[in-house]
Order: sequence, then C-alpha cells, then structure tokens
Amino acid sequence: MVDTYQNYVDGEWRDSETGETFEVTNPADQSDVVGAFQRSSSADAAGAIEAAAAVEDEWAETPATARGTFLRETAKRMDDRAEELTETLVREEGKTRTEAAGEVQRAVDIFYYYAERAKDYAGERQEPSTTDQNLYYVREPMGVAGLIVPWNYPIAIPSWKMAPALATGNTLVVKPSQDAPNVLRKVFECLDAAAEETGVPDGVVNFVAGGGEEVGGEILDHDAVDTVSFTGSRQVGEMIYEQATDSHKRVQTELGSKNPTVVSASADVEEAADVVAAGAFGVTGQACTATERVVVHDSLYDDFVEALVERAESLDVGPGLDDPDMGPHVSESELESTLEYVEIGQDEGATLEYGGERLEGDDYDDGFFVSPTIFTDVESDMRIMQEEVFGPFVGVTSYSDFDEAVEIVNDVEFGLAAGIVTQDHSEANRFVDEADFGVVKVNEATTGLELHVPFGGMNASSSETYREQGEEGMDFFTITKTVYDNY
Ligand code: NAD
Repeated sequence: MVDTYQNYVDGEWRDSETGETFEVTNPADQSDVVGAFQRSSSADAAGAIEAAAAVEDEWAETPATARGTFLRETAKRMDDRAEELTETLVREEGKTRTEAAGEVQRAVDIFYYYAERAKDYAGERQEPSTTDQNLYYVREPMGVAGLIVPWNYPIAIPSWKMAPALATGNTLVVKPSQDAPNVLRKVFECLDAAAEETGVPDGVVNFVAGGGEEVGGEILDHDAVDTVSFTGSRQVGEMIYEQATDSHKRVQTELGSKNPTVVSASADVEEAADVVAAGAFGVTGQACTATERVVVHDSLYDDFVEALVERAESLDVGPGLDDPDMGPHVSESELESTLEYVEIGQDEGATLEYGGERLEGDDYDDGFFVSPTIFTDVESDMRIMQEEVFGPFVGVTSYSDFDEAVEIVNDVEFGLAAGIVTQDHSEANRFVDEADFGVVKVNEATTGLELHVPFGGMNASSSETYREQGEEGMDFFTITKTVYDNY
C-alpha cells in the first residue's frame, strides 16, 4: 500500500484539485515506492500564491525576532527528526547515509543561522548633510517569493532559499522537484508545527508538488509573486529567467557548470588524486560544483591518472542505505544521460580510461548504478569537456605552462566552482585572480560550501543577479527604502 502525501497550502494539508498523483521510487531499488505526491495544477499553485499574498503584510509587520523564533522552532524540530530526514533523503534521492546526514545537518544549521540573522538585517543610519535630520535606510521584504528547486540537494537548497526569505519578512510558495519531494514535505511538517506553536499566520509557507510547467509556470506568471528564486539546469533556468522577467519579477537563477581542477607541477600526486576523486565522485557526481575537468601538469600526468584510477577502482558503489562510498543516479534518465556521454566521449576520440558502465548484479539490477568514469586524451573543445555531465564523470587533460592551464580552465561557458592543487603560493594567487568562477578553491575539492558566505556562479552558471547564502542571501528578498526625516 503506497502512502499518499498532500500539499501544504494556507496552513493545511490538501489534495490537488486534479485528483491525480505521481509516484516516487527509491533509485537504488525501484520496487521500493517512497510515496505518491499531488500532481498539482496551475490552479493549485495559484491558490497557494494567493494564500501567501493574503498574509504578506501581516508577516512583513511581524517583528524580526518573532520571525527568527519561527525559524529556530523549525530548526529544532528538523534536528529532532534528523535521522528520519536522512533516511527519507537517501530513499528518494540515492545519496549515501553519510552524505545525506551532512545535507540534513546543513539544512538545520541554515535555519538556525537565519533565525539569528533576522534581527541584525535592518539598514543603517548615515550622517546627513544638514542639521536636524535623520538620514537612514531600511530594508523591506519584497512580498511573495516563488521558489523552484532541483532534486540533487532536496533539503539544503530549499532551506537556503526559504530561511532568508522568511527571516526578511517574505511569504513563500515552494515547488519541489518531482524526483525528490518527500524530505521537503517533512520540513513542511516541521514548519507547520513551529507555526502553530509560535502563532505564525496560515499562508506564510506553502508547498505545492507537481510538474514544472503547471506549478512552476504559474509561479513565473502570477502577478502576486514578487521574486522567483530558481536552482536547476541551464536549459530550464534560461527559459525561466525570460518568462519571469517578462512578468516583471525579480529573478535569481543558479544553474549547472563544468568545473575544473588544476593539478600544478608542485602538487603532491596522492593529495591531488584525493581532492579530485572527492570532487568528481562524491554525491555520485550529482552536484553543481562537481569536478568534471582536470588539467594536470605534463610532468605529473601519468602518475596522476594512475592514482585517480586507483581511487575510482577502490570505490564501493551500492544502495545509499548501506552507506557505501557512492550511491546510484537519481533516475533512469540521469543514468541514461551519463551513459550517453560515455558514448559521445568515445565517438569524439577520447580514451575511456576507467568505468562508464551500468553496474549489474543483485545489488544493482533494480537501481540506477554506474561505475565512476575517467576519460583521458581529451581536448578542451570536446562536448565531454564543455557540457555538464551530471554524474561521476571526469575528463583529464594536460598543460605545460600555467597560462595554458588558466586558458583551459576558462574555456567554457559555465563558471561555478574551480579548484587548484598546488604548493606554489604565487600560482595559487594567480589562479584565484584569473579563474572566471564564482567559487575558487585552493587545495580543496570543488564541492562543499560554507553556509555563511555568498554562493553563486558566473557566466552561464547564473543569472549573476544576486548571491545566495550568508548575509548576501537576504538581499534578494528585500528592497531598500531611504528616509530623509527632518525634525
Ligand atoms: P531542472 O532544471 O530539470 O529542474 C529544476 C526545477 O525546475 C524542478 O523543480 C522542475 O520541476 C522545475 N521546472 C522544470 N521545467 C519548468 C518550467 N517550464 N517552468 C518552471 N519550472 C520548471 O534541474 P534538475 O534536474 O532538478 O537539477 C539538476 C540541475 O541543477 C543541474 O544542472 C545542476 O547543476 C543544477 N544545480 C545548480 C545548483 C547551483 O546552485 N548552481 C545547485 C544544484 C543543482
């Protein structure tokens, strides 16, 4: 018997008016059905947006400390249920237990962080040019936030959008990904209980599951939505940006990438292989910050490839619930897409050095498992070095002088996260200056972020409008009002 789960709209759990649902299954085992979720219509989304709009003034006028209390009470409940949230995340998305526990903890910490930031984020008084004047500015909430999120960090990403939106006095509607909606639905159970305890009005937070065009499309078009924050693929994100700015909304999109790591002549080969393997194969390569291109100094190339292949060979791949080193792809279509790029790479003349196969056997046959993939003899203009492959997939090329390495690094349309492994301080500094990426890492995997500093991409990885996370994450959801008060 499959459990059916509802939307959360205007303070209550509701069925969609369509009467239809869709099922979510475990990517490690298709016979394990996670649940059925509402296949909502644009009318369902409109109902949620209107509920959020009806209380936007009341929530905006709620003192920031009270908004912070709501976030803190939500965080406590999430923390109390951390183990359950972790298991839910593993079952629907496929991450390993360790990876999922880290993501759940991150989401809890984000709610706590913005619970405290809420009261510090107000504005500033400046010295006026005349006497007897107060000159200051305040930040006001934008209104209703429409949040559209992907499946790959299905609790952390919505948390880093919802918490700053709420802290700054916005109401919101969030559309989860159809591949992994359950962990976010459980966050809404926590929000619901916290709202009841702290007297938060119905309609401040809303969760509507369903298709991109129906639910997402309504968020992009509805007049009552003031801001749209989207994380997802470049293809969908670019369309969303056009559609939502056409209807005069403030929009932020954070998209895919093709992230490089340079292994400098001064690097320790074993350390470099650890850094690259963590960035490329961690979370099954399904991170927007995953390493997909490695640019290695000639002098280390053969040793590095050998060390990276050793890392790939030693990875224990299996169902996330068993906590192996690497779990499955989230879905059949993501698995197919990775396998298609394996073929493309071979057709382009690159050498398949390791992996690139669907895994078979008792543990694997009901899931979407692939072996980690390493290509060598790649050229920067090949599709496998230009297009995002959302799996454990990496191409390794070489360079002879540092200018050439930087040129290869920047030879993509994307610009999210770039890394270098080096013991040379001046090379590291040049890399930080010259890499056209929104996140730059020295001697660390391209994946992994701190929650209290800004995050976002450059070029095709982002709308480049606002940053997420940290204090800057609140800017997107507010507008400044300047006051000249003569007394
Ligand atoms: P996706 O673009 O397919 O979907 C993202 C969301 O958009 C989903 O909720 C989907 O239902 C919705 N959507 C789809 N069509 C829509 C439409 N026409 N109108 C409105 N909404 C629509 O992305 P995905 O496969 O869920 O996620 C993987 C992608 O996300 C990768 O490209 C990855 O790099 C990117 N990503 C980026 C970041 C970042 O911060 N830069 C973080 C995580 C993931």
